[in-house]
Amino acid sequence: MSFPLDDYLIRTEPFYQASGPEIDCYERAYAHRMPLMLKGPTGCGKTRFVEYMAWKLKRPLVTLACNEDMTASDLIGRYLLDADGTAWHDGPMTLAVRHGAICYLDEVVEARQDTTVVIHPLTDARRMLPLDKKGEVVQAHPDFQLVVSYNPGYQSSSKDMKPSTRQRFASLEFNYPSEEKEVGIVAHESGVPVALARQLVAIAHCTRALKQKGLDEGVSTRMLIYAGVLIRDGMSAVESSEMTMIRPLTDDPDMATAIRSFVLAQF
Ligand code: ADP
Repeated sequence: MSFPLDDYLIRTEPFYQASGPEIDCYERAYAHRMPLMLKGPTGCGKTRFVEYMAWKLKRPLVTLACNEDMTASDLIGRYLLDADGTAWHDGPMTLAVRHGAICYLDEVVEARQDTTVVIHPLTDARRMLPLDKKGEVVQAHPDFQLVVSYNPGYQSSSKDMKPSTRQRFASLEFNYPSEEKEVGIVAHESGVPVALARQLVAIAHCTRALKQKGLDEGVSTRMLIYAGVLIRDGMSAVESSEMTMIRPLTDDPDMATAIRSFVLAQF
């Protein structure tokens, strides 16, 4: 019989460019199965980092993108009608808990608080997941670890993480990679020459300086990769920048003009 989470194993090494001691810090936390919170802006490499760590530690990775419509049942499971009547179906988090995966809740503050409380008994010494509807308590597999990500930049009082939740996690801080590293990442991931990746990164730096001065976030590493992919595919650099950076970042015509001027200064 195949292992139930075989499909969640990452078999080839993901490309991950470390910025500091985060790989070592993660391994030390994982040695104690300590719950981890990855803080940092969107598109800066948090998900790629967890994929890399899951590959390195040879653990399956169950990733769940949180949103406000997500219910506790979506995470832990529910009874479903099938040919033989009703049968319990483990949700993705229950599978991770039972079989010793790393469970990654991406953007955890997007989930409603009545959903996030299900993680509490998993993040303390009990390491268990009560399935109330089924009348079962699942004891976490010794290899199970919970990892969450969140973006402090988007915090508002309604989307804050309760202290009772956040104090259950050790935390690693992420930011956009240094200029040299980001140039290498963009060139590697999108396939554009290094000189062009450098021009794209220069645009990103200008936009990041506008954070909180009209922009919620500057251009992320992810956006630069999108821009590079379209350029490599033959689109003009200016059109690609419109499509992947300017329009997604702002609806404000003046702000768009400002970002366009950064693009035109490069291309
Ligand atoms: P986040 O989870 O922080 O929103 P991602 O991990 O999805 O961001 O990063 C977006 C993309 O940027 C990734 O798919 C990857 O191509 C690239 N990337 C960002 N940082 C790195 C890094 N340090 N090493 C390798 N690729 C990276």
